[in-house]
Amino acid sequence: MEVFDPAELWNREQIEIVQLSRLKSAIVHARNCAFYRERLEQAGIGPDSLQSPDDIRRIPFTTKQDLRGQYPAGLLCVPPSEIVRMHCSSGTTGAPVAVCHTQNDVNTWADLMARCLYMVGVRREDVFQNMSGYGLFTGGLGIHFGAERLGCMTIPAGAGNTRRQIKLIRDFRTTVAHILPSYALILGEHLRSNGENPRDLPLRIAVVGAEPYTEEFRRRMEELFDIKIYNSYGLSEMNGPGVGFECTEQSGLHIWEDAYLAEIVDPETGDPVPAGEVGELVMTSLCREGMPILRYRTRDLTRFLPGECPCGRVHRRVDRILGRTDDMFIIKGVNVYPMQIEEVIMTFPEVGQNYLIVLENDGVSDIMRVQVEVRDECFVEDMRILQNLQKAIARRLRAEILLTPRVELVESNSLPRAEGKAVRVRDLRDDK
Ligand code: AMP
Ligand code: ZN
Repeated sequence: MEVFDPAELWNREQIEIVQLSRLKSAIVHARNCAFYRERLEQAGIGPDSLQSPDDIRRIPFTTKQDLRGQYPAGLLCVPPSEIVRMHCSSGTTGAPVAVCHTQNDVNTWADLMARCLYMVGVRREDVFQNMSGYGLFTGGLGIHFGAERLGCMTIPAGAGNTRRQIKLIRDFRTTVAHILPSYALILGEHLRSNGENPRDLPLRIAVVGAEPYTEEFRRRMEELFDIKIYNSYGLSEMNGPGVGFECTEQSGLHIWEDAYLAEIVDPETGDPVPAGEVGELVMTSLCREGMPILRYRTRDLTRFLPGECPCGRVHRRVDRILGRTDDMFIIKGVNVYPMQIEEVIMTFPEVGQNYLIVLENDGVSDIMRVQVEVRDECFVEDMRILQNLQKAIARRLRAEILLTPRVELVESNSLPRAEGKAVRVRDLRDDK
């Protein structure tokens, strides 16, 4: 197997030896900031407290709240002059968190990203178009430097401006793109509404991530553009993209265990979940100099996939992100994740690409409306067909979430589009 980095071929024993030694160094290094020095002292943890990577459980968690509390530079573990770049998380869930990187940090990050791209077949001969926002969002520069590291001609197209994106793809024969799921939709629709066939573009691969999407969505997009789509996972707190990535098996995302230590815990108790069960991903940066982060509660829900990947890499795989602990909403006492809704509605071929969940209160009780875009062809047909579709969707949703939402079928392109991360749920209940 051709790999970008020999670390991809390490066996479990090699991975664990390196993890333990890097974890020990990370703990020593983290004590350069007052926050971790106090935390680790309180917990009585020093490098000698750890005998195996599992002993990481003795280290206290770091939460988003902790990071916000240390904004902007409380977690710096090197002199400020060593910092060459900072990024912020997108702040979809509140105040931002800043992460500062040394030159070694940005180099390691670019190597990890290049490793991901190489794994799915991207080579220096490819032309890589990055359609995500640049600026503070890590999907811009993070992916960009990975593609450059591989030697690809890398086009920093940025987000939006669909006409120009398509022109660049055509003029420069772009073969690989990085796209957010919500933007893939916009691109496809734009082409179709101009009577063009998305399959005619020179694209062969798209790296799609930064927000959750379902397997069904992936298959639809692969079919629409006639490309292979690989899931890319990352978060600013752990650099950004390049943390977890699908290989060509498309069966779970490998977490690079030489750079990160991943755990999955019960979000309520913080204890490890039994093997293979869904829980919250907790991540530790093993090599970061600027701002090491220990046991970060990502709020992302996933599970470890059992067994080894047929690709031969031993680095553990996680399932696609199923949602976030803070994505979940409670309606009439039922816990619901937006991805449960997406999974159901995308199985209906009549359903278009976009949907929105609206939560309201009519003064008596909570109401959940699911607005679903339906393909144009369906609107010219008999009203009864639409009514049946509406009922069928409501029935299937009921089977999944145990309550019956109001399903509203709307025309394609009528729901709001996001150019950054998609907003799937509009909760109007507090506005009452
Ligand atoms: P940010 O740090 O602002 O880039 O946001 C990181 C968050 O985006 C993660 O914690 C996830 O919730 C989400 N995210 C990133 N990549 C993916 C992905 N491939 N699938 C699902 N969610 C993702
Ligand atoms: Zn694999």
